[in-house]
Amino acid sequence: MSVPVSRRSVLRGAVLLGTAGALAPTPFGGPAAGAAPPTTGSTPTTALGRVDQPVIANCATWGARPPSSPVSVVENRPNKIIVHHTAFPNSTDYSLAHAYANSREIQNLHMDGNGWLDSGQHFTNSRGGQLTEGRHGSLYALLHGQTMVQGAHCVGQNSQAIGIENDGIYVDVQPPQALWDSLVVFCAFTCQQYGIPASQIYGHKDFASTQCPGLLHDRLPELRSAVAARLG
Ligand SMILES: [Zn+2]
Repeated sequence: MSVPVSRRSVLRGAVLLGTAGALAPTPFGGPAAGAAPPTTGSTPTTALGRVDQPVIANCATWGARPPSSPVSVVENRPNKIIVHHTAFPNSTDYSLAHAYANSREIQNLHMDGNGWLDSGQHFTNSRGGQLTEGRHGSLYALLHGQTMVQGAHCVGQNSQAIGIENDGIYVDVQPPQALWDSLVVFCAFTCQQYGIPASQIYGHKDFASTQCPGLLHDRLPELRSAVAARLG
């Protein structure tokens, strides 16, 4: 349907075009090419949408070891999130220090026990609700929203799914509310950054013979709904 175009709207359009040209937008509204990766735990805020960036401590902040060989960058956006639990004992230490120590423990297990080049998961969520980067490069990729690093958290999905490890074992008990709340925030932000629909959040047992992530799997419909509500 065509409508008459007034002189006023033509002028307004010209102004908007001028503004767009001056901003020199980057693809998908992401950070400009060449932007330096974050180097502190308090990562810079990016504004791709309505979900604010949660605090995610990067590898340097929690004292990660360097990878034993370079991580691989996958030149495409992930299409899903896979939720895990670590199956570690349910600690009652909800401190940030414990979250960092837990990230180191997982990395040591994955590198020294499994022989992997780095942590297998992309991100980790503590029982106190603190988020940390897992495999090196995962946070930089998430903030830019265009690529991902290849993980090692779910066979067959490591080049297309972001893996989030939730500390603890939830076969018989529910996770603390703080863990649940930060999981919702993390998933909403990740869905926003990568354009992943909230419906594409799964549990490890959807792709492998495992009880991971326990009762969190039963709550995936609730998680998807909460994430969808935040995405708006
Ligand atoms: Zn798992």
